[in-house]
Amino acid sequence: MKKMVFFLPVLLLIPPKLYNQNKAGKDRLPNIIHIFADDLGYGDLECFGATDIKTPNIDRLAQEGMKFTSFYSASSVCSPSRAALLTGRYPQRMGINQVFFPESFTGMPSEEITIAEILKQQSYATGIVGKWHLGHREKFLPLQQGFDSYFGIPYSNDMESVVYLRNNEVESFSVDQRYTTRTYTEEALHFIERNSERPFFLYLAHTMPHVPLYVSEKFKGSSERGLYGDVIQELDWSVGEVLKKLEAKGLLENTLVIFSSDNGPWLVMEDHGGSAGPLREGKQYTFEGGMRVPTLAMWKGKIVPGSVFEDLATQMDWLPTIASLTGTEIPKDRPIDGKDIAPVLLGTGDRQDDSFLFFSGAELQGYRKGDWKVKNAYAGFDGNQWVKKVAPHDSLLIHLKKDIGEQQNLYRSQKDRARILFSEMHKELKKMGPLPPSQVVRRGEDNSHFTYLEGKEK
Ligand code: MG
Repeated sequence: MKKMVFFLPVLLLIPPKLYNQNKAGKDRLPNIIHIFADDLGYGDLECFGATDIKTPNIDRLAQEGMKFTSFYSASSVCSPSRAALLTGRYPQRMGINQVFFPESFTGMPSEEITIAEILKQQSYATGIVGKWHLGHREKFLPLQQGFDSYFGIPYSNDMESVVYLRNNEVESFSVDQRYTTRTYTEEALHFIERNSERPFFLYLAHTMPHVPLYVSEKFKGSSERGLYGDVIQELDWSVGEVLKKLEAKGLLENTLVIFSSDNGPWLVMEDHGGSAGPLREGKQYTFEGGMRVPTLAMWKGKIVPGSVFEDLATQMDWLPTIASLTGTEIPKDRPIDGKDIAPVLLGTGDRQDDSFLFFSGAELQGYRKGDWKVKNAYAGFDGNQWVKKVAPHDSLLIHLKKDIGEQQNLYRSQKDRARILFSEMHKELKKMGPLPPSQVVRRGEDNSHFTYLEGKEK
């Protein structure tokens, strides 16, 4: 905590304008870059055990920064996960229980306060490049949520809205997805270049490796894991370009670079989906493979190189953490579920909470406390083209430190422990109070006119 309280008195004395003019790295508020991959699995990076994909630039974040081995996304699918990252809140508090679609009339409520908005208190330049997926009507777009600029595909790249938006407008209806990673990277580098004289927040939310997969010619055939591996190696190149740019601008010591994924790998896509490594299942499930994401944070001179944090932390932690590191206020009028992990990053303390709720849509399915996890019994699912078949299971009690793959169910042998954890889980849910109804992400079609025609006597 010591290093963080240092910022506050300085801020009281120096108005933000002067701060921005001060180019000396150590006296300037830190830049934040959050690089988000889409559907990247826990086992898809070399530093997390992949042997058939080379990720030297992403691995550099681990070597020169901190690796989080037990880091959770708040959801196992895109939109809720992104809402949680940006607001520090469980998405169920916003009714975001499913992913939005191009035909959605809804989005993340404008009243939500994002990392970009809180950083405006300190006059940060704020930009997002890439996938938004929190609604496309103007009031839901990034510029209305604290970002100065936006460039990217507003939804997932398999949806009927693969266009490039620039700020609030469509810039291009013809997107060649082979170049999405490269184009986003160029946009990100321009953003850093444009804002290198002032504190900035860049949210670089890649479209890849969400299916359908695309890669530029240069990376085609570059990995030993087919197209999926090639795509990751291009993302790795992208991370390298960002780091090179920071170095060239002398900003590496003044920038917190975060790398993570929004949810686990989409296993039903077979070799076009990623790998959860040692974890059970993937995207769309509340097993570890769906929610635990490979996460790295590098901040030269601040984070101890090669450090590993094995305890629980979450994507929701970034809002309070970034607030703490930049001397900004977090919203006081609403619950913030994330915890400040600045002490973890700076090596001065631990995360102040060791519990986590595993929601699937609006349903609370599991709970982690310390090294233990409980999960509701499951009736099983036969699978379809979008979702992998998963066999039914009993209530689960898992010791995650000893059994990361959730293979040994201790529920029957330690029923008392399980009962206590389930009861805590329900108490936590109760504490959240009444939650809003799920947002309507898709309205049904009215095809009664066809029914009328069909029923007509010919
Ligand atoms: Mg995703």
